[in-house]
Amino acid sequence: MATDVSNKFDVIVVGAGLAGLAAAHTCAQAGLETIVIERGTKPGTKNVMGGVLYTRPTAKVFPEFWKDAPVERPVIEQGAWLLTSDSAIKLAYRSQRFADDPPNAFTVLRVKLDKYFADQAEKSGALVICETLVEEVLTDGDNVIGVRCGRAEGDLYAPVVIIAEGVNSELTRQLGMQTDLKLDDTASVVKELIRLDPKVIEDRFNLSGEHEGTTIEMYGDATLGMLGTAFVYTNKDSISLGVGFLLSQAVEAAQTPYDMLQRLKQHSMVAPLIEGGETGEYMTHMIPEGGYNRMPQLFGHGVMVVGDAAMLVNGIHREGSNYALLSGQLAAETAIEAHENGDFSGKTLSHYRARLLDETPILRDLRKYRNAAHYVESHPALLSTYPDLVSDAMYEMLNVDDVPKRQKQWEIVRMVLRARSLVGMAWDGIDGARSML
Ligand SMILES: Cc1cc2nc3c(=O)[nH]c(=O)nc-3n(C[C@H](O)[C@H](O)[C@H](O)COP(=O)(O)OP(=O)(O)OC[C@H]3O[C@@H](n4cnc5c(N)ncnc54)[C@H](O)[C@@H]3O)c2cc1C
Repeated sequence: MATDVSNKFDVIVVGAGLAGLAAAHTCAQAGLETIVIERGTKPGTKNVMGGVLYTRPTAKVFPEFWKDAPVERPVIEQGAWLLTSDSAIKLAYRSQRFADDPPNAFTVLRVKLDKYFADQAEKSGALVICETLVEEVLTDGDNVIGVRCGRAEGDLYAPVVIIAEGVNSELTRQLGMQTDLKLDDTASVVKELIRLDPKVIEDRFNLSGEHEGTTIEMYGDATLGMLGTAFVYTNKDSISLGVGFLLSQAVEAAQTPYDMLQRLKQHSMVAPLIEGGETGEYMTHMIPEGGYNRMPQLFGHGVMVVGDAAMLVNGIHREGSNYALLSGQLAAETAIEAHENGDFSGKTLSHYRARLLDETPILRDLRKYRNAAHYVESHPALLSTYPDLVSDAMYEMLNVDDVPKRQKQWEIVRMVLRARSLVGMAWDGIDGARSML
């Protein structure tokens, strides 16, 4: 570490992503000596998000951030497309209420956003140190007492360490708080930024200016029927295009992230949206998919785990950033309480988990969807057979030819029953309801 940095702090935060910066900002605001250690050259350089940032949870940590933060467009329309190889069944919801001040959500780019949040944390008094890898957590018996960084004289000490390392957290495994991740505990995501003139974006997506933005999530053929999603989000002068899929299924299907993205870009429903665009950055990252069933232990003596490191992601509702920010803030509030009482035991730090449960819907929502990913994975017809059936049925009914409509209807019924029995469909529905209600 730099020699002018003391090696004793009130709180050490590992990782300057959304969770870490929220934790550091909150601790520093309360007057705690706080250091954030980030391995990237700057906050945000290692981080990837689609991304949609939800205003209200974010404002709990950074009030009125939208007034000066580098957000892209307010999201006024959200679409879901079920793709087959040559068709799309589209559902969209647009509401001017989403544009009210403040809007419900913004599209964002992490490099800019994380820098803004890091600046806020620094203004509150936190020390943000980049280009430094935390290699190890230091312990004294059962107590976490600091971290070892990959630098000379790199041992730092604090009675509370907040692990905000993001997905695939090495340190939680080192502490025995999490077991090794399996392939289906994470999804692999690849994203490309495609630069386009703002006017072109607005014409293509039916937006009346840069105060309006849209998101489209795509399923089915978009991920070759694998559990996952593809997305198109509008930024001010670019489009975020990406596709994510379960790592275990991609390995089985021998698909690389790059192949999946190229395939998506060529899809007849997607190509016109990005036509003429200039390819900017290409990024790959992982998203935690294990959910409630694979959450690590969230606290121990002198330690708490937040954000993606704690598996706090709700893939179905595309919520991860808000969970990261709120969990970081609640861990910080618990660290402040621990300092007030001079007690850093697991008993006091367990209040972090209680806060997550009582003060946010995070744990309740993750619990509700704890079997959803397994349900979709174990019912492959949902993202392959069913989209094809709906598309063929729609095509048949909307295609005007010499066949009477009643005959078309019977042909559709026969086609459906050839593909899936009534009993099979009933069980798919019952299993789905069981896994999500
Ligand atoms: C492609 C993609 C699209 C997404 N889209 C959305 C979306 O639209 N909406 C949404 O809400 N969520 C979305 N998410 C999820 C969201 O991005 C994450 O849930 C959120 O970023 C988690 O924040 P975090 O701070 O926990 O982790 P991260 O943001 O990953 O930050 C972790 C930080 O820790 C650093 N680090 C790791 N290990 C160490 C170490 N040992 N020493 C020092 N530093 C370390 C990393 O460099 C990184 O900066 C998306 C995720 C991906 C990958």
